[in-house]
Amino acid sequence: MTLTPLQDLAQSLVNCERCKLAKLGRSQVVFGVGNPHASIMFVGEAPGFNEDQKGEPFVGAAGKLLNDLLASAGLSRDHIYIANVIKCRPPNNRDPEQDEVETCKPFLLQQIQLIRPKLVCTLGNWATQTLLERKVGITKVKAQAFYMKDFVLFPLLHPAAALHQGNLLGTLKEDFKKLKEFLDRHSEPAEPASSAPAPTAPVVNSESPQPAQMDLF
Ligand code: URA
Repeated sequence: MTLTPLQDLAQSLVNCERCKLAKLGRSQVVFGVGNPHASIMFVGEAPGFNEDQKGEPFVGAAGKLLNDLLASAGLSRDHIYIANVIKCRPPNNRDPEQDEVETCKPFLLQQIQLIRPKLVCTLGNWATQTLLERKVGITKVKAQAFYMKDFVLFPLLHPAAALHQGNLLGTLKEDFKKLKEFLDRHSEPAEPASSAPAPTAPVVNSESPQPAQMDLF
């Protein structure tokens, strides 16, 4: 049976030993899961205990909360693809280290290239800073659209943060409402093409919808 390029990539990482996490107690590489043709992708930080056991991202408590939040935005796991920046569980769920992020980031970028989502929702600081390529706090950039070269980035708080700090849960729910509004707005049919030249460049800047960008979905 021939593998798709995404399956091929997953296969190539099954026995990955490119960074020290391979020897620090991971059970398996957690590549990612979901619709390989999804137009929306979610990116978390790294697998935790449950994800490491099951081999799937977001299957523990944070994953349950994520499912509820997805439903509140009219989404389900069938619509989306979910992956993490780091594909192996760091010991005791410690933060990823720079060399680990640098080693694993190319594989996240390849996943994005193969899935070609229109929207990438990053969950928390690590995923946001990795894809935005800016050292910026999540609270400053959350729930806003950033027009990147190949996709729109929409950072959100990490669901685990809301589990640890109950006062963030309301904010996270509000931000998923904003995500839904963004999706609704951009599901409208595109404006007829104008004779004005399309904006050239991209562009990491805050939401400034252009006609050419109105038909995301
Ligand atoms: N937190 C993450 O960032 N990713 C997971 O897969 C689970 C919890």
